[in-house]
Amino acid sequence: MIRKTPVLRICISCRKTYDRKHLIKITKDHKQGIMFQKGMGRSAYICKSKKCYSDSKIKKKLQKALKTSLEPEFFDIFEKEITSYNDNPNKGI
Ligand SMILES: [Zn+2]
Repeated sequence: MIRKTPVLRICISCRKTYDRKHLIKITKDHKQGIMFQKGMGRSAYICKSKKCYSDSKIKKKLQKALKTSLEPEFFDIFEKEITSYNDNPNKGI
């Protein structure tokens, strides 16, 4: 049996390395704009700890990582997304 190597990514907030499936992926898709967990383009990863996603600096960090400016509405959606993943950890895996 072959063990799959986990894909490791760094949280843009705490800079810790996590298994990809424990992180929320935010992608600036070429065609569809900002997407969660899907899309093709520049991506940033953030872990699901409240300390990270509710960090006041996260907005700046995300904008820098994605090289785009983000609407305030994005952060409403972002917070809903990330809390729903926390409530339902198996979603999207
Ligand atoms: Zn983090």
